[in-house]
Amino acid sequence: MTDSPSRVAIVTGAGRGIGAAIARRLASDGFAVGLLDLDEAGAKAGAEAIAADGGRAVGIGLDVSDAEQVDAAVKAVAEQLGAPTVLVNNAGITRDNLLFKMSEGDWDSVMNVHLRGSFLMSRATQQHMTEQGWGRIVNLSSVSALGNRGQANYSTAKAGLQGFTKTLAIELGKFGVTVNAIAPGFIVTDMTAATAERVGVPFDEFQKAAAQEIPVRRVGQPSDIAGVVSFLVSEDASFVSGQVIYVAGGPKA
Ligand code: NAP
Repeated sequence: MTDSPSRVAIVTGAGRGIGAAIARRLASDGFAVGLLDLDEAGAKAGAEAIAADGGRAVGIGLDVSDAEQVDAAVKAVAEQLGAPTVLVNNAGITRDNLLFKMSEGDWDSVMNVHLRGSFLMSRATQQHMTEQGWGRIVNLSSVSALGNRGQANYSTAKAGLQGFTKTLAIELGKFGVTVNAIAPGFIVTDMTAATAERVGVPFDEFQKAAAQEIPVRRVGQPSDIAGVVSFLVSEDASFVSGQVIYVAGGPKA
């Protein structure tokens, strides 16, 4: 390990929701943060807000499923902030439908963003981590990995990310790099708002109904996930690798 590894983090899907909260939390933990998102304006706005609070950040637009865009974005972060040693693979989409109505496009786009995107981002950043002899990768899985009606594509991708996490933990451990996954339950974001709209229930009622099914009797907030990311990328978590941490107010969905 170098004397002082570079404290630069990349968060994908950081333009809003959970990714934006993770970026803010890592900035307050002292990391310079590259906010990457399909929505370039959202990523740049998040970076400007961090800079206004005295942090260092850059916002970059990209599609995580495009290898050239991924390589260019990681290079830009390394040039502008320093070698990225933390990667949070958070960008995600849903294309829910029952199996008989699910199109090839619904299947492919979900696989591309979650699986191909996390693969490309991890491949592009690992060299910086191994050179520094220190690194952290955190992948966003989901309780849906355990199975969820209408989400054959999404649950497959989120279960796949758990295998990806465990394999990278085995491959990268000897370079001082830990790799873990967080599997959130119900978190209040545009993604869950869109699900409420799809099933035709007002979002506040949808949240109340969800809270009744959760052991701690509340839904989650993006900050609930950001706090666990903060721990997983810390020195205190250096012996935690290859794990899937369910952050769901109970043992499962
Ligand atoms: P969100 O509010 O929909 O935010 C997702 C972000 O990812 C958006 O800013 C989106 O950009 C971006 N994104 C989508 N496709 C991308 C691509 N190809 N390249 C780069 N960025 C892309 O979702 P969220 O609720 O914060 O979810 C964040 C992560 O947590 C996802 O992986 C999700 O599957 C996971 N998760 C969420 C929940 C929950 O209850 N919310 C539960 C379990 C797991 P655009 O704005 O341009 O679309």
